[in-house]
Amino acid sequence: MCANLDEESLICKVWETDQYPFFCRDFLADKDFCGSNRQEAEEILTFLEASTHPTKG
Ligand code: SF4
Repeated sequence: MCANLDEESLICKVWETDQYPFFCRDFLADKDFCGSNRQEAEEILTFLEASTHPTKG
């Protein structure tokens, strides 16, 4: 999980600041990752994070 993500609100703590990474500025939302709403996005990203965790496999 990104160190800039507020774990309570799931809001980026550096959004619209000079610390906001270029990688994130260039990211374009994609339905495969973001789903159609916040709940779907959280489910997809939780699955992807668990599936790619270094201890998995
Ligand atoms: S938008 Fe970028 S910097 Fe902000 S929490 Fe997400 S990955 Fe981290």
